[in-house]
Amino acid sequence: MLQHTFHNHTWMCRHADGTIEDYVSAAAEQGLASIGLSEHIPYPDDRWKGTRMDFSELDSYIDGVLEERRSHHDIEVFLGAECEWIAEYRDYYDMLLNEYGFHYLIGAPHWTPMADGSWLGYTRLSTPAQLRAYAAHVQDIIESKKFLFIAHPDVCFSGYARWDAEAEACSRDIIRCAKEHQVPLELNANGMRKRRITDWEGRSRRPYPLYEFWELAAEEGAEAVIGSDAHSPSDIIDSCGTCASWFRKLSLQDAQHRLHRAVRSRAADLDGSGFQRAPCVHTESL
Ligand SMILES: [Zn+2]
Ligand SMILES: [Zn+2]
Repeated sequence: MLQHTFHNHTWMCRHADGTIEDYVSAAAEQGLASIGLSEHIPYPDDRWKGTRMDFSELDSYIDGVLEERRSHHDIEVFLGAECEWIAEYRDYYDMLLNEYGFHYLIGAPHWTPMADGSWLGYTRLSTPAQLRAYAAHVQDIIESKKFLFIAHPDVCFSGYARWDAEAEACSRDIIRCAKEHQVPLELNANGMRKRRITDWEGRSRRPYPLYEFWELAAEEGAEAVIGSDAHSPSDIIDSCGTCASWFRKLSLQDAQHRLHRAVRSRAADLDGSGFQRAPCVHTESL
């Protein structure tokens, strides 16, 4: 069922293995029709530096992916990036798309901005107020209109490990917003590869995806897409079969073909227009 994979990492993010070439070859061997690389993007202020490529590596990442795009004829290759949403850098995302020629960006809520200006990591979300801040942030990501889809929208349940009225209300807000703006939500296979946690009922389960969240998504009729979020070339389809079984069981609406058409058409436009990308310049002032 999986033909297009949009969410894949390489050694460049410091917490994954494999080169761009390794991923593209592995995806072609698995019989996929396309693969998008979506490395964790660096930010102008070097925020969260330990888990992403350095700004000085951005040119070689872009060139590396485009080189694979030119040289592989057995699979389509797309240039993507996984991004946190930092509202003050709104122009940076436009620069990635319009000046550096990224084919697509994935919006990811690993970090939530808090009222005091700090950012809280997803495993540390534990109070209802923090969960509400997370849900508001995910809606901001959706409403920014910069992103093809939202990576693991239910990653908050790694921290807020219970399904109560607050969890349901926050999930419904995210899902309805995604549906309204036609931004698909990603059922993330990497969560299924993570170490099990003990949940509110003493059940052993993966930290995310959370089945209850996806039952709501199905009920609301939101679009969904399977994301491998591979951190090794051997993981490209790993656990995607389990995700596909959730799709079937819940009759989730699969957005992979619509997203593929959108990305392919943007990539073809860039290829055909003689687009020359700007060199990546590290500057804090945008
Ligand atoms: Zn990662
Ligand atoms: Zn990822």
